[in-house]
Amino acid sequence: MSKAREKHAERLEALSLLGKDLTRRSRSHCELCDAHGIKLAPYELKPVQDTPDLERTIFACEVCAGQLNKPKTFSPDHWRCLNTSVWSEVPPVQIVAVRVLKHLAENVEWAADLYDQLYIAPEIAEQIELGEM
Ligand SMILES: [Zn+2]
Repeated sequence: MSKAREKHAERLEALSLLGKDLTRRSRSHCELCDAHGIKLAPYELKPVQDTPDLERTIFACEVCAGQLNKPKTFSPDHWRCLNTSVWSEVPPVQIVAVRVLKHLAENVEWAADLYDQLYIAPEIAEQIELGEM
C-alpha cells in the first residue's frame, strides 16, 4: 500500500472508532436534521485535523453530508432543520449548523432572520470563522 493510501486507511479506521460515541451522542439521529432510521456517517469539521476527534466530528445523514460537500446544491427547504440545530449544545454540531446558515443567509430570507437572532458564544464564533461548512 502507498503511504497516502495507508494514511487514508488509518484515518477511516480512527473515524470508525468514533462511531460508538457518535451513536450514543446522537441517539442514532442525524445531528443536523434529526432524521433517524437511516444511514449516518461521521462528518469532520474543516479544517480537518491530523487525528479524528469526537469534538470535531458530527454524525450526519447522506442528505446533509451530500449537501455539505457541495454547497452549490443546497436545498433551502431541507435546511429548515437548522431552526433547531443552530442551538445545539454540541459544539461541532452548532459550528456546522451556523456555517450552513451563514451560507444560506446570503440568499434566503428565513435564514437571514434566524441568523440575526442567533447568540453564539465567542469561542464557537471563533471556530466558525476557521473554515467553510
Ligand atoms: Zn441530516
